[in-house]
Amino acid sequence: MTYFCVMKTIEQINFQGKKALIRVDFNVPLNKDLKITDDTRICAALPTINKIVSEGGSVILMSHLGRPKNGHEDKFSLKHIVNHLSEKLNIKVKFAHNCIGDEVTKIANKLKDGEVLLLENLRFHSEEKAGDKSFAEKLSKLADIYVNDAFGTAHRAHASTAVIANFFHDNKCFGYVMANEITNLEKVVNEGERPITAIMGGAKVSSKITIINKLMNKVDKIIIGGGMSYTFAKALGGNVGNSLVEDDKMELALSLISQAKEKGVELLIPIDSLNADAFSNDANTNISDIDKVEDGWMGLDISEKTKAIYRQAILSSKTILWNGPMGVFEMDKFSSGTKFVANAITDATSRGSFSLVGGGDSVAAVKKFNLQDKVSYVSTGGGAMLEYLEGKELPGIKAING
Ligand code: AMP
Repeated sequence: MTYFCVMKTIEQINFQGKKALIRVDFNVPLNKDLKITDDTRICAALPTINKIVSEGGSVILMSHLGRPKNGHEDKFSLKHIVNHLSEKLNIKVKFAHNCIGDEVTKIANKLKDGEVLLLENLRFHSEEKAGDKSFAEKLSKLADIYVNDAFGTAHRAHASTAVIANFFHDNKCFGYVMANEITNLEKVVNEGERPITAIMGGAKVSSKITIINKLMNKVDKIIIGGGMSYTFAKALGGNVGNSLVEDDKMELALSLISQAKEKGVELLIPIDSLNADAFSNDANTNISDIDKVEDGWMGLDISEKTKAIYRQAILSSKTILWNGPMGVFEMDKFSSGTKFVANAITDATSRGSFSLVGGGDSVAAVKKFNLQDKVSYVSTGGGAMLEYLEGKELPGIKAING
């Protein structure tokens, strides 16, 4: 039996005549004119909202937006997304200028079946992040059923993501976003078909160390790329010029190499490097072995020999997890390694492997190369995804599972 079968989702509830309070993740990017620049998170929540509305339930949506510091700040108001949400749902969404209080209670009480209400930014109240019980209880009074559909904040024990669930006893469940995330992450963590390969890139070893350590017990191969490769190369005695290096993490890198040997995990580190004489798209470039980067040059991408080895490793994997770019993919001159690896992953996927991409920058990379529909699953949660893969019990999941 899979985890998906045993977890409580909106599929198991009939919402007719019920008020559902859904914690969504509407933390979307807004430009200086306060227009939405990427509505992925709004679109992700639509199936959950539509299912409840079409069954004759009413919906109250709550979310955070940005990082407000001192109460109400207009640029972080969720009112900026009401019109876009209304268009997407084809329903005129109502808006409450607060998330708790008498006025909100009145609007919520008047809500009719089939209607949708969006509450103002939860983080205008410091009690949200503090996980305040009385704030959570006030929110809970607005509805009959609590639905958590915000995977991006599932690793936080905030009032609306975890504490609130205590006030709903059995009337709580996961929405489709959460259920999909859990199901797909389980396909890597506990149900992955072997060989399983984790591709770990990005800037620093320090931010990926815990996850690499944990994955060592789960996967067959770990592919290293990005800035952190140079800490490994220097630790192994190489000359890495001016490349990004965390000198205080070199011992850790060596211990990862010996752990991998002990555990029979194939740890792949780049063998060559595309170097630049400045951190710029206009820089001069050369190619060298990764342990022979000249002084005054910095490695900003993997090069051809590494690409060929990584492609082989990816194509021979049945389950692939990708977190973090292979180089400075934001600059065209240094995006080729990341694009190449992304293409190898989509090729493996089209041959039947399962691929999961997660973590802000790898998601940005697959979107940049327009490959998001060619991988099996793109996770919506950065921190939450990493913590799940590390084997931590996320507060937002625990609160529903009880
Ligand atoms: P992270 O948030 O740790 O996944 O790091 C992603 C960032 O790492 C991206 O902005 C990349 O530009 C950057 N990055 C990747 N490779 C390198 C490199 N060789 N040197 C410096 N930064 C890099």
